[in-house]
Amino acid sequence: MLKRLCLILVLCLLLTACSAAQTPPPATSPSCADGHIDAGNDGFCDRCSAFLLVMVDFYALNDIHGKLADADTHPGLDELSTYLENAKQTDDHAIFLNAGDMWQGASESNLTQGRIMVDWMNEMGFAAMAMGNHEYDWGKTPVEENAQFAQFPFLAINIYDRETNQQVSYCKSSTMVDLGQVQIGIIGAIGDCYSSISSDKVTDIYFKTGSELTQLVKREADMLHEAGADFIVYLLHDGLGSSKSGTVSDSMLRSYYDPALSDGYVDLVFEGHTHQKYVLTDSHGVYHLQGGGDNEGISHVEIAINIANGNTSVTTAELVETRVYAYGEDHPIVEELLDKYADQVDKGNEILGTNSYNRNNKYMQQLVADLYYEAGEAIWGDEYDIALGGGFISIRDPGYLAAGEVTYKMLYSLFPFDNQLVLCSIQGKDLLDRFYNTTNNRYFISYGEYGQYLEQNIDYNATYYVVVDSYTSLYAPNKLTEIERYDAQIFARDLLAQFARAGGFENY
Ligand SMILES: [Zn+2]
Ligand SMILES: [Zn+2]
Repeated sequence: MLKRLCLILVLCLLLTACSAAQTPPPATSPSCADGHIDAGNDGFCDRCSAFLLVMVDFYALNDIHGKLADADTHPGLDELSTYLENAKQTDDHAIFLNAGDMWQGASESNLTQGRIMVDWMNEMGFAAMAMGNHEYDWGKTPVEENAQFAQFPFLAINIYDRETNQQVSYCKSSTMVDLGQVQIGIIGAIGDCYSSISSDKVTDIYFKTGSELTQLVKREADMLHEAGADFIVYLLHDGLGSSKSGTVSDSMLRSYYDPALSDGYVDLVFEGHTHQKYVLTDSHGVYHLQGGGDNEGISHVEIAINIANGNTSVTTAELVETRVYAYGEDHPIVEELLDKYADQVDKGNEILGTNSYNRNNKYMQQLVADLYYEAGEAIWGDEYDIALGGGFISIRDPGYLAAGEVTYKMLYSLFPFDNQLVLCSIQGKDLLDRFYNTTNNRYFISYGEYGQYLEQNIDYNATYYVVVDSYTSLYAPNKLTEIERYDAQIFARDLLAQFARAGGFENY
């Protein structure tokens, strides 16, 4: 019945169109109000000459990793805020999106567990954010609380609760941006990066990946199309492992994205997680973009949607490099937010001591292993003979400790993760394989006389005790059995802060 009514309506429209064609109507012909025609697809109504293209500009960020404030190693978001604000003024429709990993990685954000970044996105008017693996670095509670606070949805179609087998309640699968004449559907998903999250932070959830994820996205895209979406954007916290340009083959894409989704389901993909810069098209002509992370370039795509025939085309697809926006004017929003969160954030500015020379990554990683061993001895040494301290010690931005004043913020940037100290037991053979003789150059160990003795005289079947951080203890191949966790909120950066306060970095 409905179909028949529609048919009659279309016939009526066609009839009016034909009769109108003899005498060209004025430019604002009321007869065109709901029925422009653009047979030649030139963007103008064949009858009333009205301009039929709705232009939409997407600005997508990825992997900002908390880089809100200016630092020696990266620009803050104050100039980017100005750039985005200008886009909002000059573009007909500007939509701000991000593909995840927004919070973890700089003290201003970490000390607020991401809240200050969410506040920034609220103020800038973001339409959606896809969940990244690092959003879980403080567990589930800050994610839930930040989701409540956010004025935009957190998107992850594939994060599920283990107990209920339902999608987690703080994420949505998609959102629709209503621009009046056109509707933009946005779907978000997290990539296959569950194992990159410290497992104790995500015990109660799992990610649907592979063909399951494809099915979810297809179904969601169908629903959005039915609800009137003219164009569908996919925010995916995953991407190509290396940077390239031009077109990307289906086989390369398959490592993280099902090319079948480009066949009528999603029209544009903003990616993240791998921190690789690229603007690519796939075999279906769908664009895939990613910026370099840490505020190193953002993705910009402009599309034109023809409201007469629904045709869409990409008119611009570019990576806006940092140098394009990072020298503009400072937007006051960043200073305002730093003021607003001063109680939490100021801890980062505390001067802990001075550092007599630039200390490189290996020095700092070894120092953390030494401090793990010393702290372990102090906490558990009376009760246990501790063989060694250390583990997989990864270092972040900028990879070295600069000479001069040492602030908590600098140490935070180098060692941002909240990994607790853990006392573990391990079999002699594993202790030798995984720690003393490891070939992984990111493992660092430290020991005293007893550890030195063991290195030469280990009993393969005996049980020994080590002190590592929770990231190392939870990594199953290490074959560690946890005995006790040090409960205090003391992490690598805090041990380094104590070391700095005691003048440790003043030595040569
Ligand atoms: Zn990242
Ligand atoms: Zn990531």
